[in-house]
Amino acid sequence: MPEAPKESQKATEHEYDVAEKNKKTLQFIEDVTTNADQVQKRVLAEILSRNAHVEYLKRNGLNGHTDRETFKKIMPVVTYEDIQPDITRVANGDKSPILCSQPISEFLTSSGTSGGERKLMPTIEEELGRRSLLYSLLMPVINQFVPGLDKGKGMYFLFIKSEAKTPGGLVARPVLTSYYKSSHFKNRPYDPYTNYTSPNETILCLDSYQSMYSQMLCGLCQNKEVLRVGAVFASGFIRAIRFLEKHWTLLCKDIRTGTLNTQITDPSVREAVMKLLQPDPELADFIEAECSRESWQGIITRLWPNTKYVDVIVTGTMSQYIPTLDYYSNGLPLVCTMYASSECYFGVNLSPLCKPSEVSYTLVPTMAYFEFLPVHRNNGGINSISMPKSLNEKEQQELVDLVDVKVGQEYELVVTTYAGLYRYRVGDVLRVAGFKNNAPQFNFICRKNVVLSIDSDKTDEVELQNAVKNAVTHLMPFDAHLTEYTSYADTTTIPGHYILYWELNIHGSTPIPPSVYEDCCLTVEESLNTVYRQNRVCESIGPLEIKIVEAGTFDKLMDYAISLGASINQYKTPRCVKFAPIVELLNSRVISSNFSPKCPKWTPGHKQWINMTGRT
Ligand code: AMP
Repeated sequence: MPEAPKESQKATEHEYDVAEKNKKTLQFIEDVTTNADQVQKRVLAEILSRNAHVEYLKRNGLNGHTDRETFKKIMPVVTYEDIQPDITRVANGDKSPILCSQPISEFLTSSGTSGGERKLMPTIEEELGRRSLLYSLLMPVINQFVPGLDKGKGMYFLFIKSEAKTPGGLVARPVLTSYYKSSHFKNRPYDPYTNYTSPNETILCLDSYQSMYSQMLCGLCQNKEVLRVGAVFASGFIRAIRFLEKHWTLLCKDIRTGTLNTQITDPSVREAVMKLLQPDPELADFIEAECSRESWQGIITRLWPNTKYVDVIVTGTMSQYIPTLDYYSNGLPLVCTMYASSECYFGVNLSPLCKPSEVSYTLVPTMAYFEFLPVHRNNGGINSISMPKSLNEKEQQELVDLVDVKVGQEYELVVTTYAGLYRYRVGDVLRVAGFKNNAPQFNFICRKNVVLSIDSDKTDEVELQNAVKNAVTHLMPFDAHLTEYTSYADTTTIPGHYILYWELNIHGSTPIPPSVYEDCCLTVEESLNTVYRQNRVCESIGPLEIKIVEAGTFDKLMDYAISLGASINQYKTPRCVKFAPIVELLNSRVISSNFSPKCPKWTPGHKQWINMTGRT
């Protein structure tokens, strides 16, 4: 009888396999970054030749050309609003090749909104393969800096969100929901790098309490095996810690007895968790002792002692969470691995252990055809409310190719995707930090126009202004007028919440009761976009707060800005503040604080669609 391979022999084979795969992946990165320009040329030609007969390209007169020069000369640079009529046709069931020769398999609902509703990004089946490819680059890269991660597990808090159907019957859902529900994720072959503590069933449970509870329980049960922890965005990871703070007694009870909380009613979740759960009084004692300590500093390293890093995005607005993460993780490295969106997955961080402030993403040239629109700052700001929407001819000619960007310069990202977006402005501003071979590496600077963000919400100045305008109608009966306002994303609370600072001019003699300010809070929330309201409903954002400040506060704010060098003539009240001394100044003059008394209304899908609630 042939001898079964000895344990050590198996281990060596496995190590060889992993090493070989990692080597191949790193070689792929070398190749595509070295030949970045050729790859980009090929990607564009491929996209244009496949789609030569689609209505959108024909309408613009591309006439089957597949070269960069003609493409750049003929095709307009567009925003979502420009292509919305085409998107609406597809959503309403027009199956003719409007944007893409391949059938649109579903819409990915972006956290970027248009008219208060999520933008709908078309996608095709094969894009899942491209997304999987980008994911497959991450661990071989990290392995160069943190070896041995194949010997344990990742504790990742991953969630799906509800989905809707367009009138034409296409599914519309966030990109990660689409990915987690795909066979690329669900039926992934065994890979030591995608070995997570959360069983698929716990990730695929739509009920956020059951999903979080069961993922946390599984993470705690396997605490010694955990080598890395994370979530997609920093806010999500902090929410998980907050959940643990609230529910650790119940979690410990389950670990002690090996039985599962009766609030977990989803049969597939129960079954998956029960496979892992064993009565373990010793572990329960240990967790109880750690969680009942007064300070939660370093709770991550205490409960999951073998953790080497925290894998969360802390670039962009998420940087506001860095101090909280440092506190809970005792300063473990915060690793931002990738940069992606509903439109397209863009790139990876090739120096994952660098400081968050130095993170740069290398765009992977096979993902899409990338162009870059130079950003010209006006008075140092790029979040101007008056940003022109469409580009003139001269500006269209300013777009440069991937390999032609200049170090230090800021650009707006423009993509042409396999799924039918052509010269589409993503809305992100990036700065060139350097190059990997011939492929540029970018710091993420900001999302254009966004003033407030706590989680995936992105509120711009115009939305804020409209919401405030709607809310102040409650003050009319009191002959009170809003003279100035600003806002602040407060992330010192968990979850974070929006604060509005209002200065009023009150002529009436009847005092304004707190309930009226509460009505104002709720009206602001009801007026904000669907992503904000969804995050409120699922408690990723806390109740909105309006702080009434003393008369003269905004004059003081102006004096302060001028003392720092702002010009008196050009001074405009900022509609959002971030600088700590300014927030302190505002807080020192607060007369009353008022919170939204309940959640704003939210239902999945666009306003005009028939909603499809529940799981599908
Ligand atoms: P969505 O389309 O809802 O998936 O959101 C995509 C947007 O999230 C991007 O366009 C960026 O504005 C933001 N984003 C994604 N990845 C990162 C990252 N690594 N750092 C900062 N912002 C990011």
